[in-house]
Amino acid sequence: MAFWALKGYHISMSEGKLFVCATPIGNLKDITLRVLETLKEVDLIAAEDTRRTRKLLTRYGIKTPLTSYHEHNEVTRGKELLRKLKEGQDIALVSDAGMPGLADPGHRLIKTCLEVGIGVEVLPGPSAFLTALVVSGLPTDSFIYRGFLPRKRGERVRALKELSNEKRTLVFYESPHRIEGLLVDALEILGDRRMVLARELTKKFEEIIRGSISQVLERLREGKLKGEMVVVMEGVVGKEKSLVDIGSLGSRVMWLMREGFTRREAVRKIAEEEGVSPRMLYEAVKRVKISREKGD
Ligand code: SAM
Repeated sequence: MAFWALKGYHISMSEGKLFVCATPIGNLKDITLRVLETLKEVDLIAAEDTRRTRKLLTRYGIKTPLTSYHEHNEVTRGKELLRKLKEGQDIALVSDAGMPGLADPGHRLIKTCLEVGIGVEVLPGPSAFLTALVVSGLPTDSFIYRGFLPRKRGERVRALKELSNEKRTLVFYESPHRIEGLLVDALEILGDRRMVLARELTKKFEEIIRGSISQVLERLREGKLKGEMVVVMEGVVGKEKSLVDIGSLGSRVMWLMREGFTRREAVRKIAEEEGVSPRMLYEAVKRVKISREKGD
């Protein structure tokens, strides 16, 4: 779809444009009409995973040529794509799922295009973090999208410590292999605050797990949770502990007891960390036990 402009007697070829297209995060129906139209009309589609994108294209009868563009060929393929754009080709950029450039390849190409004056147009659509944030019910007026935390434990702990006084809602991406590690560290560093684990969004086995960090951790340990997941955590809510917090402090004491602490040690540890009285914690544990027995 190279754009040709008539200028007097000359026909000159302008540069192409990069169309950044959001694609479904699960349900293939979550795609906009504009993205479908664009994928049909561009000269080339640069896809993170050509097999996955081909499935989408086949579903919608789109036959536009595909090329791969992923983290391992980002530099070399990026140069080729830039050359084609300069020659006048229009290119659509898509990732595995959701919005390219967000924890996905694309940012570098977008930045380079902008630097050299090639037009970039973003076609909005699904993104896992926004879907999870909205379904979480936690404050959306102010939040931090933090993507994937570092894989190495020491770096992850450091990153969590930096966020420990953050009042805004926190949003993380995480893989099923590392989710338990993330929650254990978060419980330790951020305290037992409210969170939501949004799993397999828009897919057949979508599941939204709500509770305190220790409760979600417990649920996680009951049965391995698979699939793709987003973690949304409440920011610091101020010095006053909410009722949910008190209940969840009780769960946290019980969790430490299962990890081998005596009740006294667990209570002392949480009391010190949270600046609450041991007496209140004993009461909280009692309440959690009663509500569990009642099956609340
Ligand atoms: N660019 C994508 C976006 O806009 O959502 C994110 C890509 S990132 C490489 C992949 C991560 O997004 C997964 O590890 C998971 O944390 C999250 N994710 C993607 N699809 C998801 C889904 N259907 N349900 C829950 N989380 C999902």
